[in-house]
Amino acid sequence: MAKIINGTKISADIKNEIKQEVAELERSKGVKPGLAVILVGENPASKVYVANKQKGCAEVGIISEEIKMPETVSTADLLKEIDMLNKREDIHGILVQLPLPQQINKNMVLEAIIPEKDVDGFHPVNMGRLVAQQECLVPATPSGIIELLKRENINLKGANATMVGHSEIVGKPCTLLLLNEWATVTICHIETRDLKMHTQDADIIIVAAGVPYLIKENMVKEGAAVIDVGINRITSDKANPELLEWRKSDFEAKGATLIGDVDYLKVEPKAGYITPVPGGVGPMTIAMLLSNTLKAANRLVK
Ligand code: NAD
Repeated sequence: MAKIINGTKISADIKNEIKQEVAELERSKGVKPGLAVILVGENPASKVYVANKQKGCAEVGIISEEIKMPETVSTADLLKEIDMLNKREDIHGILVQLPLPQQINKNMVLEAIIPEKDVDGFHPVNMGRLVAQQECLVPATPSGIIELLKRENINLKGANATMVGHSEIVGKPCTLLLLNEWATVTICHIETRDLKMHTQDADIIIVAAGVPYLIKENMVKEGAAVIDVGINRITSDKANPELLEWRKSDFEAKGATLIGDVDYLKVEPKAGYITPVPGGVGPMTIAMLLSNTLKAANRLVK
């Protein structure tokens, strides 16, 4: 039976630590960290993410400001807003909720945020500093993954780690963070010919593919640490009998449930550690965003 890594509890511990540090910054320097979140359009999922980020800020004493822009906004207008936020002394972190509408040049927008306030860590300067192992702001989900592993005392030095997924927001930065901790890292993606060959001997498997049941029991070594980043919404008509039974209350209440990329019920008895979905990596993402905002404030405040 695996130790189930409780991301909800660990993220609450981190938020408590941040809350104390935020209070200390206010006591010593008279400054409260400020986060500006730009939300373009009416995407319902984006609205929920932004609301959760603001709730997280309120919990730890970070001031948050939501800037709503219409779906039809131009790149130029978005850049003007970012320019104003870059100059504001009370704003230490800026993030633009993704995805952006098609007419917007996403790269121009992300690169307009000054790297010192880029709390999502998506600016190429922060990515480059991560490669060069320099002080930088690191994307929240991968740093949350490393934090989970460290707080569970899972050995990274010399460990064989397999990262499934090579996105800019999770897979690539997570690979670099693992390397920086001296793990031996294999990175897999959609074109990987034999995924099992790369997962079956891994001490640590991190999966961020967005494919339900991708990681099966026969792909996991006995005692491995399995970190499931995937978030997949499964409606009752798509669920197998085991899932219908396991998540009965979700299906009855909402007609759907959230699962990760790991065949959890089969893999859990074999793994040494495993993160549940929900309640594993998910809650860590907001905690690390708050941590990045505090870090940015500490560095910007003289
Ligand atoms: P993405 O959707 O941009 O890309 C998916 C990655 O998985 C790609 O590298 C692709 O090559 C790889 N992939 C897809 N199918 C594969 C297969 N069959 N075999 C091997 N590799 C395969 O990635 P993303 O934005 O990092 O998101 C991945 C998942 O993680 C999604 O389910 C997303 O919702 C979730 N996510 C969760 C959090 C969180 O806070 N928990 C944060 C970000 C993303």
